[in-house]
Amino acid sequence: MTIRLALQTAGPLLLPGDAGYDEHRRPLNPALDPRPAAVVRAAHTEDVRRAVLAARHHELPFAVQATGHGTHVAHDGALLLRTDAMSAVLIDPDRRVARVGPGTRWGDVLAAAAPFGLAPLSGSSPDVGVVGYTLGGGLGWLARAHGLAADSVLRARVVTADGTVRIADADRNPDLFWALRGGGGSFGVVTELEFRLYPITRVYAGAVTFGRERAAETLLHYRDWIERVPDALSTALLLTRDGSLVVKAMYAGDPDRGRALLEPLLAAAGPVVHDGLRVVDYPRAAMGGTFARTFDQVRVLDDDLVAALAAEPDATVEIRHWGGRIARDSGAAAHRDAPLSVVLDTVPTPGTAAALRRAGLGSSFLNFLPDPARTATAFTARNWAALRRIKAAHDPDNVFAAGLAVPPHAADLVCAAGR
Ligand SMILES: Cc1cc2nc3c(=O)[nH]c(=O)nc-3n(C[C@H](O)[C@H](O)[C@H](O)COP(=O)(O)OP(=O)(O)OC[C@H]3O[C@@H](n4cnc5c(N)ncnc54)[C@H](O)[C@@H]3O)c2cc1C
Repeated sequence: MTIRLALQTAGPLLLPGDAGYDEHRRPLNPALDPRPAAVVRAAHTEDVRRAVLAARHHELPFAVQATGHGTHVAHDGALLLRTDAMSAVLIDPDRRVARVGPGTRWGDVLAAAAPFGLAPLSGSSPDVGVVGYTLGGGLGWLARAHGLAADSVLRARVVTADGTVRIADADRNPDLFWALRGGGGSFGVVTELEFRLYPITRVYAGAVTFGRERAAETLLHYRDWIERVPDALSTALLLTRDGSLVVKAMYAGDPDRGRALLEPLLAAAGPVVHDGLRVVDYPRAAMGGTFARTFDQVRVLDDDLVAALAAEPDATVEIRHWGGRIARDSGAAAHRDAPLSVVLDTVPTPGTAAALRRAGLGSSFLNFLPDPARTATAFTARNWAALRRIKAAHDPDNVFAAGLAVPPHAADLVCAAGR
């Protein structure tokens, strides 16, 4: 479909057939081949505002994409706003704050903050977009020590569904501010984000590889060991499809102390095949991630689940320890009481699926959820209801409905219409 758009922007407007249309319509997932009606590469906030209003005027679905790392549906027929050209980082070392544009990737912030001895709560990849990651909660390797990235946001500039540019912080539009910190991209287009940085330069981090023979014993040990570790230590166990057991760890503190804390777990796993734990500059501590075909939050690694995961054939399984500061903070994002998550890179066997259901909380995390139909599972029932009410107040016509979206609360819409 080719449309005539009444839209004047500083950044280019790309229609099907235009040079650049193909390059900018695609997300990261190669299985998706979206055909948006138009792509707008915004140059500044006024372009964003005009794009939102144009989508409404032409009754086009609206979608926003920075890097394409979190785009799970094809935005066919939509007005697709690309923010990749709006990349900017400002560091205020005195306040320990970063201010970024919507196209900024974590690698840019890591590079800009490091010379000041500061670090953001980034995740496993420097290529992921700061804004999408943060609005979806943002679970990094410093989360047990310093919380989810969403909880470190101080201020956002947002274009809301009516085309108004608003500031959301603790004093201005506090409901919007609360919703943005974990509720995802349903409340507006963020054109600037300000968040806390932490005085972290070097960490003790990496992975130790073992054979998979002692997988069950190690998981049982892990179950008890995580009860005793401090928040500064973050870990995950990986059972890989090539027959390895990998302990991944990051300790934001003295490396000798970190090693001593890890030693009992490492001893339980058997003979070391490769020891990759070392002191490293935080921006270079690439911890990698596991492709999540399934993601479950579990109460406990019970005996059945341990046996099932240890025996799971032809799969890479990642068991990650949450808790710490994540659980002590509050906010729209995530289920704070989930102590562990289990990711599989393939469909689990029926035995593992049943064990996951029994031990599972039935919850998920927005940033690790590929299925828009399950968006509600990323939130507590109370937060989901609050998010839907805030959505009804700020976006009653559901302009920001793409992807992992929060729908407006129906009863609130009736109230608004009756006023
Ligand atoms: C390799 C890889 C590693 C990852 N590692 C982690 C990790 O360690 N921890 C973690 O928590 N997550 C992680 N994720 C998930 C990632 O944080 C989410 O997929 C996130 O949505 C990506 O944001 P993006 O802007 O890069 O992607 P995009 O596909 O460009 O955007 C995804 C969504 O974010 C929203 N969004 C983006 N920009 C804006 C904006 N300016 N205003 C409003 N909404 C916006 C929109 O809803 C959009 O649909 C990872 C993903 C990948 C692919």
